[in-house]
Amino acid sequence: MERKFASQADLADKKISFVKLGNSAYAYTAEGDPNTGIVIGDDGVMVIDTQATPVMAQDVIRRIREVTDKPITHVVLSHYHAVRVLGASAYGARCTIASQGTWDLIMERGEADMKSEIERFPRLFRSAESIPGLTWPNIVFKDEMTVWMGKLEVKIMHLGRGHTKGDTVVWLPGQKVLFSGDLVEYAATPYTGDAYLQDWPKTLERLRALQPEKLVPGRGDALVTPSQVEAGLRGTQDFITRMFESVRTGAQAGKPLRDVYRDTYAKLKPEFGHWVIFDHCMPFDVSRAYDEATRYPDPRIWTAQRDKEMWQALEG
Ligand SMILES: [Zn+2]
Repeated sequence: MERKFASQADLADKKISFVKLGNSAYAYTAEGDPNTGIVIGDDGVMVIDTQATPVMAQDVIRRIREVTDKPITHVVLSHYHAVRVLGASAYGARCTIASQGTWDLIMERGEADMKSEIERFPRLFRSAESIPGLTWPNIVFKDEMTVWMGKLEVKIMHLGRGHTKGDTVVWLPGQKVLFSGDLVEYAATPYTGDAYLQDWPKTLERLRALQPEKLVPGRGDALVTPSQVEAGLRGTQDFITRMFESVRTGAQAGKPLRDVYRDTYAKLKPEFGHWVIFDHCMPFDVSRAYDEATRYPDPRIWTAQRDKEMWQALEG
């Protein structure tokens, strides 16, 4: 049976939740679609990941306006993926913050990624014509920076490579709330097409060491107790580790990518097949894992054309 490319068959709307996580934090989640985090400081609002288009971002702004009339002053990009960053212009924030690694990836592959992701996710890129172009950060940090939003301390940190080489988390140390971006997913399949699979579990250890009490993952419900947070970290770590091990074993045995894909899909399906976007992610995930296990230490650029060729080779 041939599966439809990426998320092109996924056209049903999701139910949106806007969950309060404490005095200063909210999570905008949608049953496994990309999440947005919100931090409300004394004098302004920070948005973490923007949604895919300015039109889609309007719904986030509407929710923010139900709880505060403070100006939206900061946008943080957890990483460079189009589906998270191209709605940024809607917020009119004076500060758009990203890591150096994310800046480098926008420079190198932002255009290719935009074209590729618009075709992968037609539902999430509704009103794609409202995108004014790539989102360029105007504040770039290397490892860590602190934003004081009045008396509220907000740490913005790159704790290592994982989902991409620029992954950024936002941490409220006073309230132990963490916004992880796609480094952590909950009941949603991690996308690893641009990942560093051998680094990712180590980076998750650094997230765990912060001892977050609440965590907003990149996809899936907000995790609001320490045991839920641990379930999110553990689930993501298990998926990454088992997927990469399966691919590495096959690659080292000299099997071609298509066989390794079939084996790995069958191995992971019983445990993880019910997670959203499993069928979308697996061909990309196994392709990158095979690259990393063989001869490509850095992820190769996905283009709309390479996407389709890979899909045809593995699923056709
Ligand atoms: Zn991503």
